[in-house]
Amino acid sequence: MSQFQCYTGKKLSHLLNRIRDAIYTEIAPLQITGWCTPEPLPFERRLEGMKRNLTVGDKWGNLFDCAWFHFTGTVPESAAGKHVVVLLDVNGEMCLVDSQGVPLRGLTNLKSLYDYSLGGPGKRVFEINRQASGKEKIDLWADAGCNDLFGYLTENGTIKQASIALCNDDMRTLFYDFEVLLDLMKVLSKESARHQQIFNALNKVGHLLSQFNAEEARAGHAILLPQLQKKGGDASLQISAIGHAHLDLAWMWPIRESIRKGARTFATVLYLMERYPDYIFGASQPQLFDWMKQYYPELYQKIKAKVHAGRIEAQGAMWVEADTNISGGEALVRQILHGKRFFKQEFGVDPNYLWLPDVFGYSAALPQLLKKSGVDYFMTQKLSWSLINNFPYHSFHWQGIDGTTVLTHMLPEETYNSAAAPHSVHKAESQYREKAVSEHCLMLYGIGDGGGGPGAEHLERLTRQKNLNGICPVVQETAAHFLAKWAKDAAQFPRWVGELYLERHQGTFTTNARNKWYNRKIECALRELEWVLTLNLIQSHQSYPTKRLEKIWREVLLYQFHDILPGSSIKRVYDESIARYQQLLKEVNQMMEKNYLLLTEQINTTGIKQPLVIFNSLSWERTEWIKVNNQWFEITVPACGYQTIDATAESTEIPTVIATENQLENDLMRVTFATDGSIQSIYDKRVKREVIASGQTANKFAVYADDGDAWDFRMDYADFAPRFMELVSALPRIDGPQAILEQTYRLGHSELVQAITLTAGSRRIDFNTQLNWRETETMLRTAFPVAIHAEDATYEIQFGHVQRPTHQNTSWDLAKDEVPAQKWGDLSARDYGVALLNDSKYGYKIKGNVIDLNLLRSVLYSGQRLVRDEDVQPGEPHHAFTDQCEHTFTYSLFPHPGDHIGGGVVQAGYELNHPLKAIPATEKAGSNPTVASFIKLNAPYIILETVKKAEDSEEIIVRLYEAAHRNTAVTIHFSQPVETIEEANLMEESVQALPVKNKNEVKLEFQPFEIKTLKIKFR
Ligand SMILES: [Zn+2]
Repeated sequence: MSQFQCYTGKKLSHLLNRIRDAIYTEIAPLQITGWCTPEPLPFERRLEGMKRNLTVGDKWGNLFDCAWFHFTGTVPESAAGKHVVVLLDVNGEMCLVDSQGVPLRGLTNLKSLYDYSLGGPGKRVFEINRQASGKEKIDLWADAGCNDLFGYLTENGTIKQASIALCNDDMRTLFYDFEVLLDLMKVLSKESARHQQIFNALNKVGHLLSQFNAEEARAGHAILLPQLQKKGGDASLQISAIGHAHLDLAWMWPIRESIRKGARTFATVLYLMERYPDYIFGASQPQLFDWMKQYYPELYQKIKAKVHAGRIEAQGAMWVEADTNISGGEALVRQILHGKRFFKQEFGVDPNYLWLPDVFGYSAALPQLLKKSGVDYFMTQKLSWSLINNFPYHSFHWQGIDGTTVLTHMLPEETYNSAAAPHSVHKAESQYREKAVSEHCLMLYGIGDGGGGPGAEHLERLTRQKNLNGICPVVQETAAHFLAKWAKDAAQFPRWVGELYLERHQGTFTTNARNKWYNRKIECALRELEWVLTLNLIQSHQSYPTKRLEKIWREVLLYQFHDILPGSSIKRVYDESIARYQQLLKEVNQMMEKNYLLLTEQINTTGIKQPLVIFNSLSWERTEWIKVNNQWFEITVPACGYQTIDATAESTEIPTVIATENQLENDLMRVTFATDGSIQSIYDKRVKREVIASGQTANKFAVYADDGDAWDFRMDYADFAPRFMELVSALPRIDGPQAILEQTYRLGHSELVQAITLTAGSRRIDFNTQLNWRETETMLRTAFPVAIHAEDATYEIQFGHVQRPTHQNTSWDLAKDEVPAQKWGDLSARDYGVALLNDSKYGYKIKGNVIDLNLLRSVLYSGQRLVRDEDVQPGEPHHAFTDQCEHTFTYSLFPHPGDHIGGGVVQAGYELNHPLKAIPATEKAGSNPTVASFIKLNAPYIILETVKKAEDSEEIIVRLYEAAHRNTAVTIHFSQPVETIEEANLMEESVQALPVKNKNEVKLEFQPFEIKTLKIKFR
């Protein structure tokens, strides 16, 4: 062969396309009838939509419209003996169903916004008969959505293809032979004999193809076969491949479409499993399985059978692939609890690994949560998305805040949508950082994000790559099999200490602020509801609504999915989740009130004219002011207990507080305001110390231009001068022990009203905020420059806290510009510090001496940028922006002597989020005293997080953790006599029996940040 006659690489790619085009030959059109609706209808109601006779080229819908399609036709006689298929593409996603409406096969339009470097998303082929007899009637029903895989309208929702076609199987075989070898050739050294021999063989095939018929295809296959049969030698690295369909449970589409995407994806998996015996597929998210159970019961039975057969792997361990920055601690426990319970109950499997390929950063609380839930391994890939630093490991021991480690694997290929082609295998090997010490790594192949999963192309490639000379061998197996093999080398893996911070998507700590507010409120309300329900169960054997709570929790857990809670979904997702949150919150609050009332009925209130019972669900005694019928009472409520007062009694003597237009003052603090409304000075009278940095002012409402999206804002945003909201009025008032300055600010069409409140006896300054935000492409922030110097700031995370640098010494410090926190962030020296508490905000930035909090981001909703004028529904705004709405939130500045521990910041964060609850009672001769504590602890930094009934028994679960990072011994005292106490894991399984002292006490020893779960049987 002369150099001048041979194909170049580019020409070989072109040839490959010509081979592909010769696989299918259309022989007859199909008739198309559609019944169109805006929302999906089940199979039985498929004829209720608007009936239309359609043909190729017709528009059938707008974005997210639905239709049942009926495709009919007759196989031409000329096709007898041949392989007949149908080719269907309606520029949307479809699910073909059988005559009973049971899903058979998911189809996806060829044209999509998908990243084509990962492969084509299109699935358009459905088998009719491998050996047709001719004249067969074709009668197919399909449930369609007018959206591509990524939730976009493509080609204006027109029908692209609906025809009967012949499949040239020889050409199909040649196509994959050729594709795999061409791809392999490209990753081999040009100097290698292997490269040149493959090149030569591909060229020969190029020379013989002229008619592109079966005979030529067979000859081509014969030329390529020896190259495909060349085996590799002893492998140094083996790749474990598992089919994957990353399915965001809401993102660029509403939740209802995710349910349908699930059916399409699983139907395709089952369809391909019939044809590819080695195919193993994995799916996480019990929520997705539960939807299949609920909406597609027959399909679910088939899925279940494949799980039992070991072909579909139920991957753990959370209910959904949840956000771990914003979700609260107990919510993360419930993600695993409900996730594992479902798989155990439904499939009898108990995954020992957590599967979170796509979550935007991983809390340093996770290792302990995982290990204490029977989860030993963790798999992700997202840190490869970091913008500044390259995460240094792919296989490592990840150590959390309490020292627990969990063995972690990050996909070396750095995608969960692998093409499973030779270049994918090559990339995995080249990039795998621990390949010197590890002989195994994982590959997730398939089409994903919008579901879909592997197509025949992935499986055809893998069939040819089992042990192909030139690349690592690939074995198709479950993640569990992979983990067991891979873990054998773990002794040599490196260690990463602390959070897995994603250097990207920091906007998601703030975007869609109202959704995040509801998440916090429902987390807090559920905590309190479970506490009061449990007290009634112990006290008076009231029923405990386990089933209802399970349903509520699971819905709350769904909304913590990694594109819902972070704020990165389309507008409809938030319209729907907020409506549901409102209902759930109302229901939870009503149940709570009812149960508080039941508790009050147990109290002996005889002789009290107008009894009012004040409840404290937190595990320490609190003394606070409360207002009843315009009277103020300073009351002390014991830990996990209540105090009864007479609402007709005279109010407590009220100490003097001062409120003027430019000053608030109580016994401890004096706050001075500048003429623009900002805070000029906060003087701690007791320790004689100024809190605000000299020459600077605090709490100015800075409005930054934000042309980012739901995920990201520009890192240099602060280099552009912000606008500030302007003070229009400042009204001082005194309400009992509270000095209040009500400030009103405006900017553009937006208005912010803030009641700045200082209460007698407290250093906490509350900023109770009502905000009507109307601006677009803006970020609103507040900042507190404080007179504290410290190199690290402290931020609360789930079940503990982390420290992060306040400087930018290294690129790793620089990257942590905006960081997530739970209820507080704090800047402290040893002697004094300042915390900024919040009731629903998560985006903090403490750099230098400035504590800065992100309040909202008004940016285009995900998906909006691509909405075209003609697709906008009448009456709908042209572009919709996040956070352009009414907001209510509170943040509090909490200066404190001592550091964040000595200063009581942990408790202050809880107190802001769990106010005392006053329940009016009636005079009654109950058996309980007027003041009581149900649970008492003698260590202030052992925090009681959860009290609930056990899922599977009448026992009571009590969860506590050490919050100060020290070894602590504690005695816990229960008001009720105890029969047995066991220590349990987070899955509520007993670990060991504990001795009960004095009939109602237990002694525990905590390691720093340790979480302990008790399982108690009361007498
Ligand atoms: Zn995702």
